[in-house]
Amino acid sequence: AKQTISNSVSKVRVIVRVRPFLAQEIVVKNGCPKSCISVLDQDIEARDEVAVHLKDPDTSRNECYQLDSFFGQEDDNVSRIFYKEVNPLIPGIFHGCNATVFAYGATGSGKTYTMQGTDELPGLMRLAMSKVLEMCQSTGSVAEISYYEVYMDRCYDLLEVKTKEIAIWDDKDGQIHLKGLSRVPIHSISEFHEVFSCGVQRRKVAHTGLNDVSSRSHGVLVISVSSTCSDGSGAVLTGKLNLIDLAGNEDNRRTCNEGIRLQESAKINQSLFALSNVIYALNNNKPRVPYRESKLTRILQDSLGGSSRALMVACLNPGEYQESVHTVSLAARSRHI
Ligand code: ADP
Ligand code: MG
Repeated sequence: AKQTISNSVSKVRVIVRVRPFLAQEIVVKNGCPKSCISVLDQDIEARDEVAVHLKDPDTSRNECYQLDSFFGQEDDNVSRIFYKEVNPLIPGIFHGCNATVFAYGATGSGKTYTMQGTDELPGLMRLAMSKVLEMCQSTGSVAEISYYEVYMDRCYDLLEVKTKEIAIWDDKDGQIHLKGLSRVPIHSISEFHEVFSCGVQRRKVAHTGLNDVSSRSHGVLVISVSSTCSDGSGAVLTGKLNLIDLAGNEDNRRTCNEGIRLQESAKINQSLFALSNVIYALNNNKPRVPYRESKLTRILQDSLGGSSRALMVACLNPGEYQESVHTVSLAARSRHI
């Protein structure tokens, strides 16, 4: 089932990142398994569209989707994605524009690795923070961070000593506010590391009795920058970069969820579908963008569309065909006309 779409200019770039096989996956298969994901185009760098090809080694079923760019298994370092895809979004936030980066994909596909990274290999969050701090130094601006999660359509502040629920409300101008959300000024990368790590830790323990909620909630790091307008008016511009580790997009037909899990995954799928609808509407110049269909898209309303720029990184596990089709088809659907 090949889809060909020409001349599409995406306002939200949609790219693919395939993680490598993990040591234990290689052991189980008795050698390195064959990846079920490849790109047809040879010269990826020169193209503004790539054809991502998925093939099931067992049944030889296959699918092909067009996306904006592709980072394969050999790209184990996220810094190439950072320099090519995220770095260009940063100068805008010093001019009062907003931007959003999403990691999207099934549980185990590498979303958290891509966004948070490890102590040795920083992810997109830490790389973006470094770049922002560097630019703050040369412009005299101040950076602040917020970190919250959206779980079952509720929003929780992760930078408070005790995690608390945050109310979401629209003001009379239609601006959305997260009432009382903490904002912590950051002056160095070590300060960032300290504050952010505490938040990550809180996210892990916030929901007592439920294990690993973190892969079933959306984790949102916001880096905001206030800078003085260069026109001499003294006006202050505020721009922000949202870096989001989305909840895993599980396919309920395959995971046989029940009870609370089923409710959770219904909420997750609803919010991911709403996000996909918003991106589709933006990329296709629809007159109405359905921001109000979920909490997540309501919160992100000021950071998607308008002068904002966004990037969706579809993360894939190279050993999972059906799951990858599920992820890539939704990613491609958001992108296209
Ligand atoms: P997700 O957040 O999508 O559930 P994770 O980021 O936790 O997935 O990744 C699943 C596993 O794969 C983890 O053990 C992680 O360390 C590993 N992993 C993910 N991406 C990479 C990568 N690019 N290189 C090496 N290991 C990776
Ligand atoms: Mg994760």
